[in-house]
Amino acid sequence: MSFCDLALPCVTQLHPYVPGKPIEELERQYGVSNIVKLASNENPLGPSPKVVAAIQTAAAELTRYPDGNGFALKTAIAEKFNLTLDQITLGNGSNDVLEMVARAFVSPNDEVLFSEHAFAVYPLVTQAIGAKAVVAPAKDYGHDLDKMAELTTNKTKLIFVANPNNPTGTYLPLDELERFIANVPATTLVVLDEAYVEYGEQSINTIDWLAKYPNLIITRTFSKAYGLAGLRVGYALSHSEVADLLNRIRQPFNANSLALAAAEVALNDDDYLSKTKQLNDAGMQQLQAGFAELGLSYIPSKGNFICVDTQQNGADVFEKLLQQGVIVRPVGNYGLPNYVRVSIGLAAENQRLLDVLPKVLGEHA
Ligand code: PMP
Repeated sequence: MSFCDLALPCVTQLHPYVPGKPIEELERQYGVSNIVKLASNENPLGPSPKVVAAIQTAAAELTRYPDGNGFALKTAIAEKFNLTLDQITLGNGSNDVLEMVARAFVSPNDEVLFSEHAFAVYPLVTQAIGAKAVVAPAKDYGHDLDKMAELTTNKTKLIFVANPNNPTGTYLPLDELERFIANVPATTLVVLDEAYVEYGEQSINTIDWLAKYPNLIITRTFSKAYGLAGLRVGYALSHSEVADLLNRIRQPFNANSLALAAAEVALNDDDYLSKTKQLNDAGMQQLQAGFAELGLSYIPSKGNFICVDTQQNGADVFEKLLQQGVIVRPVGNYGLPNYVRVSIGLAAENQRLLDVLPKVLGEHA
C-alpha cells in the first residue's frame, strides 16, 4: 500500500515549494565557508536593533500564548494605512494569507488565474485545493493584463497579481492595474500581492483602492524590506467581510508573539526602511552595471532581486556558483531556464558574485 493511494490526487500531484538553499546546507555539502547567500530576497542589513530589542522584551512572556487577535499589531497597521482593525488578517508570513484566501473562496470547480512566471505559491495553493489554474502568457516577462482580462470568465473565482512580481521583478503601471481591477467582475476576488512594494516609489496609494473595490485583497509582508523573514509575519488588507471569512479559517495563534512584537516596531521604523531602500538601489545599480560589463542582459526589476540571462543553463550556473560559495536561485521552474535570480546583497556580497561570474560562465565555453 502506498499512502499516495490514500491521499487526495491534487496533493499527490503537487510539486512542493523549493526554497533558497540555506547557508548551513552548502557548508555541509561542499565544505566551503565565507558563503554569500543571494537567494531568498532577504534583507542583507540584518534585523533592525529596535526590533531585536522588542523581541528580547517579548521573549520574557514566551510561556504565554500570543494575542490571537493581534490587537496591537493590527492597531498599528490600521493607523498607518487609515483602515479599521476588521479589515486586517494577520498571517504566518504572507504565504499564509495567500493560502487562506484560496481555502476560504476557491472550490475544485473554480478557476484561479495568474500570470506565467508569477510567484510559485499561486499554483501551489490552487492545486492543493484541486481547482483549475489558468495561466496567462506573460508579456515582456510581466503580467499581460489584457490577456488576463480576456481569460477572466464566470468560473474565475480568484486572480493573483504580484506587483512587483517575483522572480521577474516586473512592475505594472498603477493606472493600468487599477483599470484592470475595476473591470474584474464583482464576484471574482483579486489578490494584489505587494510583498516588495516598499522597494519602489508608489505614485498612488493602492490601499485607497480597497474603498472602491470590495473584491480586492492586498497582501504585504514583513519578510522583505522590514527584514523579518525568519519570524514569518505578513498580512492581508481587505473588505471587512472578506477579512472576517479569512479569520474564520485562520489557525489560532498563527502569528507568534515574537513576530507580533517585532512587526509592530518594524512597521514604523522609518530609518531602517530608508537605509534598506538606499542599499537596495545602490546594489541594484552595482549589479546592473556589472552584468552590462559582462555582456549579460537582465530583466529590469523593481524588487530587491534581479533575473540575469546567463545565456546557458541557469541550473548549471547555479551549481557552479555554489562551488564558489555563492548561492543564487535557479528559475527554470518559473519557465526561465537560462536565468538565475540574484537577491540584492551588501556591496561586498554583490561584488563577490560579479567577481566569480566570468569564471563560472566561462567554464561553459
Ligand atoms: N509574495 C511574493 C511575490 C513573494 O516573493 C513572497 C516570498 N518569496 C511572498 C509573497 C511570501 O513571503 P512571506 O510568506 O515571507 O511573507
